[in-house]
Parts: sequence; C-alpha cells; structure tokens
Amino acid sequence: QGTVMEDRPEDCEKKVMLDVSCLVVRYGGEIEALRDVSLTVREHEVITMIGANGAGKTTTLKTISGLLHPMAGSIEFLGKRIDGQPPRMIVEEGISLVPEGRGIFPQMMVLDNLKAGAHLVSDRRIVAKELERNFARFPILADRRRQLAGSLSGGEQQMLAIARGLMNQPKLLMMDEPSMGLAPLMVKQVTYFIRDISSQGVSVLLVEQNASMALSLASRGYVLETGRVVLEGKSKKLRETEQVRRAYLGG
Ligand code: ATP
Repeated sequence: QGTVMEDRPEDCEKKVMLDVSCLVVRYGGEIEALRDVSLTVREHEVITMIGANGAGKTTTLKTISGLLHPMAGSIEFLGKRIDGQPPRMIVEEGISLVPEGRGIFPQMMVLDNLKAGAHLVSDRRIVAKELERNFARFPILADRRRQLAGSLSGGEQQMLAIARGLMNQPKLLMMDEPSMGLAPLMVKQVTYFIRDISSQGVSVLLVEQNASMALSLASRGYVLETGRVVLEGKSKKLRETEQVRRAYLGG
C-alpha cells in the first residue's frame, strides 16, 4: 500500500461504510489490472480516486459493483462481505454505479430511463417518490421527461445518468468520470449536484481524471497508479503534494 498521509480524528468517528482491502483483479486470468487496492468510504463522505488512463479506476468500481470478481482481497459494505456477490444483490445492499460514458438508453424517453433505473424497486410508491425527488433536483429532466434521452445535451445526459443511479435509493453512489466530455460550466453544475446529493446523506465514491474538480469536492482521495494505491490522504494535503501537482494538476 502507498504512502498514507495522516487522517484527522473526526473522520475516524464516522462509521465505515465501504471497506475495500488488498484487491487483486485480473482480466482473462493474465492482465493484472489491480495489484493492491485498499480504500474506505465512511458515512456522509465524498471520496475520490484519481489516476491516469489505465490506472485501474474503472476496474475498481466494476469490482465493487460485482461486475468483476477479485482474485484476492475483500470488499465489505456495512459490515457484510459483498465480493463475489451478483451485481443485483449489491444494488439491493445500497450501492449504485453511474458508469463511464453514462450508459443511458438513447432511444428511450427520459422518464423511462429513470424508471429503468428503479427496476429493482418493487414498491410503485417509492418509484413515484424518487421520480419526484429527481425531477425537483434536476428540473431540466422534468421539463424533458418525454424527450428521447439521446436528444439531450452531454451535460443533461450526465444528469440523467446520475438521477438514474439515485432511483435505487443508494446509500453509496459511485460515479465513473462524470465530468468527461463536459464544458467547464457543465462541470461546475455536476459538482454542485454531487455536493447536493452528499448533503442529503448519500456517500459518494468519485472516480475522475479531472483531479482538480475531484479534489475540490472530496474530503479525502486515493491516487492510483498501475493498479496500486500509491498515495492517500486529505484532499487538501494531496493538492499540496508535489507528486499530485505535477502529475495531475498541471503544475
Ligand atoms: P480510464 O480512465 O482509461 O478508464 P482506468 O484507470 O479506469 O482508466 P481501467 O479501465 O480500470 O483503468 O484499466 C486498468 C487496466 O486494465 C489497464 O491496463 C487496461 O488496459 C486493462 N483493462 C481494462 N479493461 C480490460 C478488459 N476488458 N480486458 C483486458 N484488459 C482490460
């Protein structure tokens, strides 16, 4: 495991929600995408994982979601082992993933995309309540509820992807590069929404190549390089680190 920069005691008082320990993941039994990844997310935290292309960020999120199975290591969520469980069960435990590239259905209406996000919620009243909450949170989606998702702008599609992830009422929302391909103003909007979601009690694990945005949002961060966590600590400290500034903040 990489260098750990001290944690302040108040963080340690919060309950650990997600505990990922020493993950090893291989593709096709050969390519070792994750060699040693450990991280924790506590209740009410926004945590980020930053790193260059191919560092293993997407692989980490997919493994937590149950889309990939680790060769070694463990994943606990709210005290329960979830590694090796099917994705459906992990969603039911309270973890949603907003995937890289958004993964919305362009030929379906905005409304149906959102309903599809709640396919594991059997109580129609909960679905209706979550729809209203998301329409209040993202008024543009309410205005465009009957439009095809593919006709939305990139930023609106990202909002839809986030809203869809929230339809399952997750306790932890994981986002894979939500700022990708967005204009700076739209990145600001997405930042605002992530803050809002977090203030409503949902923990967030944010994977980003936009390290500046990610470190401004998150309280703590992990730096991934070739499948390993090489540095971790408070965002403020990470931002001041020479290694992070040079490699990820362009200075
Ligand atoms: P990016 O920002 O490009 O998404 P990342 O940090 O998310 O990068 P991953 O996509 O997790 O990185 O990739 C980690 C490693 O695993 C890379 O070496 C990549 O080439 C490899 N890899 C990813 N997906 C596959 C796959 N389906 N088959 C084989 N190797 C893969």
